[in-house]
Amino acid sequence: MADIRLEGVGHSYDGGRTWALKPMTWTWRGSRAYALLGPSGCGKTTLLNIISGLLTPTVGRIWFDDREVTGVPTAGRNIAQVFQFPVLYEEMSVYDNLAFPLRNRKVPKQEIDRRVRQVSRLLGLEEVLRRRSRRLDPGRQQIVSLGRGLVRHEVAAVLLDEPLTVVDPALKWTLRSKLKEIHRDTGHTLVYVTHDQTEALTFADEVVVLNDGAIVQAGEPAELFLSPAHEFVGHFIGSPGMNVLPAEVSGDVVKAGRSVVGAVADGLPPGPVRIGVRPEFVRITAERVSPGVAARVKGTDRMGAYDLVHTTVGEHQVIAKTEAGSSYEPGALTFLHFPAERTFLFRDQVRCGSL
Ligand code: ATP
Repeated sequence: MADIRLEGVGHSYDGGRTWALKPMTWTWRGSRAYALLGPSGCGKTTLLNIISGLLTPTVGRIWFDDREVTGVPTAGRNIAQVFQFPVLYEEMSVYDNLAFPLRNRKVPKQEIDRRVRQVSRLLGLEEVLRRRSRRLDPGRQQIVSLGRGLVRHEVAAVLLDEPLTVVDPALKWTLRSKLKEIHRDTGHTLVYVTHDQTEALTFADEVVVLNDGAIVQAGEPAELFLSPAHEFVGHFIGSPGMNVLPAEVSGDVVKAGRSVVGAVADGLPPGPVRIGVRPEFVRITAERVSPGVAARVKGTDRMGAYDLVHTTVGEHQVIAKTEAGSSYEPGALTFLHFPAERTFLFRDQVRCGSL
């Protein structure tokens, strides 16, 4: 499984006026499962197509281990790809569709049979192996496409572009864990494109967050959640996303309005900052706390397993996630404490310090 190295790779669809993908240097390490996560239009498919060779980047070079592949077409890159919608030979049986990529590479018959049966067992396709692909519903067809992408073991990389879009939501959880199982077995270098944070967080060893054509942070799922390096990551990951509150570094403390919310940990120069703290870590009480800020309760969403208490600090919204059954009345005066180890400071969207 190859390391895939991008050196200054960028892409513009309009002759350099705008960059769908801003020039970036980045390595996808061999045998890891990556999720490439970002909102619609941020450049995920562009990046994936550059890796696969469907698109030649406007600038930069690509390496699979020590082999430069920048100008090499898809067929010469030895990768498996799965798209959003099924790509199958409709008149062939499911078995033949799964076997096709292996027969093409002259894998011995017995080994083909072993791998087809293994992947179909994991994906729950055993009882439809003899059926023609066109007789399956689109969700099942997509699972066969997924199987075709995963059946070869010796590929440089497996690239999956939103592969579960047409699959029944109830099946998605199962399939993601199967995918993880298959990945453990094969050790593919795997890049899985999605705009769905749950999909990314449950599946990947490492999540790469893309926004506006640039990688804003990459890390293990817990790291992105607990330690966002960019405001975008704080908003995009988490449900609801990170609270943001304008504040001021003044001497060695941080103030929101006139309230001191904490000490500055990193010797930050004075001036405006934005405090970022996830609803999960905001502590709300009816008693005055120090450090802390006064907040007015607007209302509570009862989510079943927990409550989301919506408050305002001045004209800014702050949400606190509490145990179910909280009893803050709308209009009540409360106090919020932001724990130092889970509260970060941002300037120009980028993390510059913590409390
Ligand atoms: P989605 O999740 O909606 O597929 P994405 O993150 O995959 O989005 P891309 O499809 O890579 O994003 O698109 C990135 C930017 O490039 C968008 O602004 C898009 O409009 C633009 N773009 C994509 N393909 C083309 C093209 N063939 N010609 C011109 N512009 C394009």
